Amino acid sequence: MSYKKFFPYFQNSTMTYLDNGATTQKPQSVIDSEIEYYTHYCANTHRSNFGDANKATIEFENTRKHLQQFINAKDSSEIIFTKGVTESINFIANSFAKDFKTVIISSLEHHANIVPWHMQNRTLGEGLEVVGYKENFAFDFEEFESLLQKNPNSFVSVTHISNVFGTINDIKKICTLAHKYDSYVMIDGAQSLAHTKIDVQDIDCDFFTVSGHKTFAPTGVGAIYIKQELQDKIAPYQTGGATIKSVTYEKSELLPSPYRYEAGTQNIAGVIGFAKALQLIDTIGYETIEKQEHTLYEYLHNELEKIEEVVLYNTTKDSVGSKSFNIKGLLHDDVGILLDKQKIAIRVGHHCAMPIMEKLHLKGTIRASLAFYNEIEDIDKFITALKKAISMLKD
Ligand code: PMP
Repeated sequence: MSYKKFFPYFQNSTMTYLDNGATTQKPQSVIDSEIEYYTHYCANTHRSNFGDANKATIEFENTRKHLQQFINAKDSSEIIFTKGVTESINFIANSFAKDFKTVIISSLEHHANIVPWHMQNRTLGEGLEVVGYKENFAFDFEEFESLLQKNPNSFVSVTHISNVFGTINDIKKICTLAHKYDSYVMIDGAQSLAHTKIDVQDIDCDFFTVSGHKTFAPTGVGAIYIKQELQDKIAPYQTGGATIKSVTYEKSELLPSPYRYEAGTQNIAGVIGFAKALQLIDTIGYETIEKQEHTLYEYLHNELEKIEEVVLYNTTKDSVGSKSFNIKGLLHDDVGILLDKQKIAIRVGHHCAMPIMEKLHLKGTIRASLAFYNEIEDIDKFITALKKAISMLKD
């Protein structure tokens, strides 16, 4: 079955889209729901009390409930809407996590989970520790445990799935180990929800960040899951309208979670659209999505492996979504230009992960990133174009 029929981009563009790690395409249902909000009941939420405003509030809160069930959070107060993973991480970094003596991250982090810690004047070995990796970029649990032994009561912030290599970290094991040493865990789930089922209670993380636009929802919307037990301990990152119970010239009294964390007018259309994206995943089912993506990823890996000039960095085992590689003797940028000329959408560069590039002595990679709507034919087109680019650049 072709899932592309749900996504109007594929009827309107001639590009072969393999840049899902950057953002995903949006289904018609998401686009329609945004149009519906703006054309039929555009009003602010949680404020006015007329019909359209009430409908907007109900739809907005329905997404919260939907996301709660979708990631198996215990209570809807645990779901806080943000602009995306970057804002979610910045929120916690600048409130709950800022006073921890040590923050522990992995080697495969996106800049979104590195720069906020540097901005707190943490440097390597001085408030910031980085867990190394073993073969195939596997998270080094021995090094992690030794860091936790030396630094109990740390704040751990790690990616679930690498946006560069598609490596999947065993986040449940990371949480178990961190909790053993009285530490808290935040998961960067930017690359997760589009590919795999998330159950925050089973993972037992303290924070889980979600990106809407990488999960078939509109841009500018995301969320953070905050474990209920922690809510009283977390100061809001921003405050203002909609966060308060009462304000006098003397003092402000905040509402409980989630409202105390959602200052100002939210991306209402985006949040409402997010529910439609989740609905599509519900309809297709993660089992189907995971199976389809595994087939595609393995095929992509095998086809790349057949090209003599290709340098691969990891195998397909425990990887999903993103696949990075280089071409011996050629610049990734040059390959990217020739792929674009042949209507192939991929990303070349450091993928907002400069530290791992530096560690591997690379300036960048060529990255193809998949979603469930991709087809074998997309990979065939990409491989044909890649071979052509290689032969043109080598001549
Ligand atoms: N973390 C990872 C692993 C990512 O891939 C990205 C987006 N490229 C982000 C964080 C930032 O996410 P957002 O665009 O939702 O802010």
